[in-house]
Amino acid sequence: MATSSKERSELVAAATRVKQNAYAIYSNFRVGAALLTDEGEVFQGCNVENSSYGLTICAERNAVFQAVAQGRNRFKAIAIVSDDDGFITPCGACRQVLAEFAPRLEIILTNKAGNKKVTTLDKLFPIPPDLKKLSRVKIKSKK
Ligand SMILES: [Zn+2]
Repeated sequence: MATSSKERSELVAAATRVKQNAYAIYSNFRVGAALLTDEGEVFQGCNVENSSYGLTICAERNAVFQAVAQGRNRFKAIAIVSDDDGFITPCGACRQVLAEFAPRLEIILTNKAGNKKVTTLDKLFPIPPDLKKLSRVKIKSKK
């Protein structure tokens, strides 16, 4: 079920707050994300960069991991905020992680001017790989 306008505004406000904590000393590109659970809780994440660039984590995955660490993995929506003039969307890695838990997650994109654009993960990531089938593969033991 889609979020209400009030919920969207609250998520954007939470994402804007956590964006202030972004550790983005290399790119100066701060991102905040606020993830709404089915139970109505909000988990926030910001991007955390690292001097070995490959270890950088995006705001969206940070929010998901914070929620999962608290035992929550049913998600309704995520708001993503940056200082960019355009609407930034989750990167491929984040789309994959979000799809693990909520393939049809509502995604609230914002721009610097404060405009919102609402979409869904299945529009941004329409045919996710069914990697869960890997867990069904039986490994034959060598006896
Ligand atoms: Zn990402």
